[in-house]
Amino acid sequence: MAAVLLAKVLKFIIKNLTDFKYTIVALSDSSVVLSWLQTPPYQLKTFVSNRVSEIIDVIPPNRWYHISSENNAADLCSRGALPSQLLTVQNTWFHGQEWLYNDPNDWPTSTFFVKNVKSIPELKSNVDTFTLVSSENKVLPNDLEETFDKFSSFNKLQRVLAWCHRFIHNLKSSSNRISGNLNSNELQQSRDSIMRVIQSNHFSTEIDTLNKKGYVASLRKLSPFVDPNGFLRVGGRISQADLPYSTKHPLLLPKKCKTATSLIEYFHKVYLHSGPRTLQGILCKTYWIINARSIIRSVLSKCAQCFKFNPNIIQPSMATLPASRLKPGKVFDHVGCDIGGPFLVKESPRRNAKGYKAYLCLFVCFTTKAVHLEVITDLSCDTFLAALDRLTARKGLCRTLQTDCGSNFLAAGKHLKEIGNFFRDKNNHSKIFDGLASRSIEWRLNPPNAASMGGLWEAGIKSAKHHLYRTIGNRILTFEELTTIFCKIEAIMNSRPLCSLSNNPNEFDVLTAGHFLIGQSLLAVPEYDVEDVPLNRLSRWQAIQKITQSFWKRWSDDYLHTLQQREKWFTSKPNVNVGDLVLLKSNLCKPLQWPLGRIEEVHPGIDKIVRVVTVRTQNGVYKRPVNKICPLPYAN
Ligand SMILES: [Zn+2]
Repeated sequence: MAAVLLAKVLKFIIKNLTDFKYTIVALSDSSVVLSWLQTPPYQLKTFVSNRVSEIIDVIPPNRWYHISSENNAADLCSRGALPSQLLTVQNTWFHGQEWLYNDPNDWPTSTFFVKNVKSIPELKSNVDTFTLVSSENKVLPNDLEETFDKFSSFNKLQRVLAWCHRFIHNLKSSSNRISGNLNSNELQQSRDSIMRVIQSNHFSTEIDTLNKKGYVASLRKLSPFVDPNGFLRVGGRISQADLPYSTKHPLLLPKKCKTATSLIEYFHKVYLHSGPRTLQGILCKTYWIINARSIIRSVLSKCAQCFKFNPNIIQPSMATLPASRLKPGKVFDHVGCDIGGPFLVKESPRRNAKGYKAYLCLFVCFTTKAVHLEVITDLSCDTFLAALDRLTARKGLCRTLQTDCGSNFLAAGKHLKEIGNFFRDKNNHSKIFDGLASRSIEWRLNPPNAASMGGLWEAGIKSAKHHLYRTIGNRILTFEELTTIFCKIEAIMNSRPLCSLSNNPNEFDVLTAGHFLIGQSLLAVPEYDVEDVPLNRLSRWQAIQKITQSFWKRWSDDYLHTLQQREKWFTSKPNVNVGDLVLLKSNLCKPLQWPLGRIEEVHPGIDKIVRVVTVRTQNGVYKRPVNKICPLPYAN
């Protein structure tokens, strides 16, 4: 402010000192003020900048000199002094320093130079500016396309490029500057330059050949041509159609090009996640991407939003069968068990007899597929164990018992839920476990939600119900009748052929589960009485022995190899990995609401194929079969 005051006073003096010849010498002991005066005003903040301009209008920067504080007479006043002090230095204050009377060259002043521009206070914050020098020969389309590939989306690329174009335009014509938001023309121009770069990068030889010969063999189906702007366009056969030029002659784009991919993604999002056909229709109104169909499909398959609506479930190839199904052994040694129903049963055949529920308890032998059906009247551990006792009493003790853990029934109706709860209940678990342990039976549980892993007994229940409902219709049976029906059904199921017993086309007998139970199919036509055949006891025993052995031989020769083939789920898919992001399939809600989780652990089978995984979601950790999870498309 002192300098401003000086300038104002000096201005007034100069105005009135018209007849004098003079040189202005301005002195200051403030290096900050001198720095400001040496700096171009536009680099300073507004307040200082305005004052500096005002000062240098009167006193040019080169007339300013630095003076040390002790030689500065003005300092006395600005610092404040006692009258006594003023008296002792009165000479200085009223008449100026002694050296002022000498030649200006002898004054103790120094020319001031700004040493470090950045350290000056009140400097405008620095904006880094870059100068982009481009020459047409240096920037290759190849390099530019690499730069394009770094953009996450086509929209961003075209906007950035549009801003660059505007910058160049504003530099070139300062009188006709554009400001404000990007307009459609600018975006179009930006898209054009993107296409120009891509075409010159991928179709340079084609464009050259076209310009020379007017014909390109490799793209002959599209009969391309180069338009007046230098774009390669599809010729096609609809040039006479009453359509916009870009629709009749879309721009040609290559297939292996990331920009084309991001263009597809852009259109897919702009047109509200449209499907491949719609998208192709929309795209080909402007762009003709070579082999568009497959590229569109591959791009769309990676859209996470679309995937959530149509999640892809992985079905690992069918598992190797458990050893219990492949080793000859006692029938019902390894048993799977399931409960079906409920069925309504009435107390007596009377018309208005009271009704109550009954359930079907199905046991299936893993080795021979033989089934054993028991009717139980309630879902309790005691009845379940009693049914198991009835099985073991008639068919012999079993070694392992395998069941579902009960969550399969979660999504099912109310009745099935009861069964699910029965298997899931922790109290029941310990009771059944104790009960089985005391009978030296090992209990194995399938992972939750893995219905396909209990295929054998699920199929058994289904087929038992099939026979039951077709036989009884809507009738309500008594307990006795239902038991009888189920015994018959059991017999029928045990007579299902496992494989043909003989290769001789004239022999109709087939190997059934019944052969392992009673030596023949359970519903076999009674054979002729063989009493009259002269066989002594020993040879008959040997014959029976021989027959049983031949059944097992057949079993291993003929039946076992039928298990060899996988009837479905043949193709092996790559295993899921720990850390993969997956959707957890749930029957209770729509795919969009399926919880997202990350695989925490995988549990590969003997064949190294992962069929069970542990997934952590925000609600907790779940163990699930692989066909109940959907890995997100961008997981890897
Ligand atoms: Zn989508």
